[in-house]
Parts: sequence; structure tokens; C-alpha cells
Amino acid sequence: MLKQVAEGVLVRQSEFLQSNAVVVQGRTGVLLVDPGIEASEMAALANDLRELGQSVVAGFSTHPHWDHLLWHAELSEAPRYGTARCAAAIRDLLSKADWNAQVAEALPPEIAEEISLDRFGLVTGLPADTAQIPWDGPEIRIIEHQAHAPGHAALLIEERGVLVAGDMLSDVLIPFLDLDAPDPIEDYLAALRLIEGVADDVGVLVPGHGSVGGADQVRARIKQDRAYVHALRDGGDAGDPRLRPTAQNGGWLPGVHEWQLESLAGRRERDGAPG
Ligand SMILES: [Zn+2]
Repeated sequence: MLKQVAEGVLVRQSEFLQSNAVVVQGRTGVLLVDPGIEASEMAALANDLRELGQSVVAGFSTHPHWDHLLWHAELSEAPRYGTARCAAAIRDLLSKADWNAQVAEALPPEIAEEISLDRFGLVTGLPADTAQIPWDGPEIRIIEHQAHAPGHAALLIEERGVLVAGDMLSDVLIPFLDLDAPDPIEDYLAALRLIEGVADDVGVLVPGHGSVGGADQVRARIKQDRAYVHALRDGGDAGDPRLRPTAQNGGWLPGVHEWQLESLAGRRERDGAPG
């Protein structure tokens, strides 16, 4: 199930939304980014790693959404990191007496029973502007931006030419904007520009959900995401191919798109801005 995508970088894809867990080989063990969804999948991953003679020495969550914050006891008690903003958002959630119920409500009913909230969100925030993940392995640059979720981070493993994009640059999901942010459209466009700035260093692109892509996919998906965000800003959908129903997306993406359009229109009305 673990697939090598570059030297020392492996990906395990979950059935749910084609979620990608990323394993990076370090000197004394592996770093695990966004470990997976169902408890049994993470147990299987722990088992696969054991068979490879590897232990998890660090974890990283790209952003504070439930499907990137799960964990399994068999993956070890290694420190799990996120950006300071990511950790603050999780702290906010976990400080609520009913956080468990709030998260449970967000889970897709068809797999809710397979998901364990044991060790959910136990993420240590790295100091603001930390440039690299602190661990004993290839340098991993943290490219933090404000799009999709507070403190969202893409990771660039420069020596391996791998970009772990978190929930950006997916070939199966449209951009989901952080509609609670003051300027979600401009935030998203700025994030795409930031990622574009490292595009020349990327040979392999691993999105949080969807297919792993080669070098050509980085700019292609930036272009596609930018076109979608422009269309959203202008009140349309630009015929985005990802809005077509498929067996994987269950046909619910047009609903997300409509909801994003309505939220942005409502916001413009409230702000009294033209158009
Ligand atoms: Zn997300």
C-alpha cells in the first residue's frame, strides 16, 4: 500500500477522498505527514513501517481540519508538529467542552465508525516563521500561507524535489476557501503565487487529496486552481472539470461550490462593496 514517489518518500492513499499520508525517510526513523483517516488504515501503516524496520520519529499536520489531525497509538508517541496558527486553531477547538461531538458531526457518516478520535489533534505549534521541520532527516521547508485553513502549510523536501501540498493543488477537489478569513480570495491567490515561486524545484507533487503528479502538474494545477478562484470571485465556475460528479467525489462538490459562491456574495453585501 505504501508507494515510493521519490527517493526516501512514500505515500499511502486512503479510500476516503483519496487522502494521502506521506512518509519521509530520516536518519533514525520517518516523518509522517497527515497520517490517514480510518483507524485500521493507520494500524496497517504502522505495521508496514515496522516491517520496513522504521519507526515514526515525528509527525506533521498540514492544517487544522479533522482529516489531517488523526493518529493511532501504534504509530508511536513521537512529537507531532504544525504551524503556530494551525496549533492555535486546534487549541481553540479542543478547549470546547463538546469538541468531540463537534468533530464527530463533521465526519462522513459512512466511515464515522472507522474513525478514532484517540490522540486527535495533539499537535505542537512550531514558533511562528519556523523555516524547517525540526527533525533528523532531509531538510523540509515549511511554506506557510493563509488559504484553505488557518496556518495551512505546504512542505518542500528540496533534496528530493517533492512538494507536499496539503489541501492545495488537488486534481479531484476544487479549492475550498477559508471563508472565515478577512479576504479569502486574495489569500488563496497569494498562496498560489507563493507555491508558484518554488515550482521549479518540484519534480513530484503530493496533494492532500487526489493523484500524485509530476513536475508538469505543479503549474497545471496552480493554473487550474487560480482559474477556479478567479471564477468564484466573478460569480461563476469556469467549467472546472473537478465539479463533474465522479464515483470518488460522490457528486457533492457542486454543492460546495454553490455554498462558496453564496458566502462570498453575502459577504460582499454585508461589506457594501460593489459587485
Ligand atoms: Zn482541509
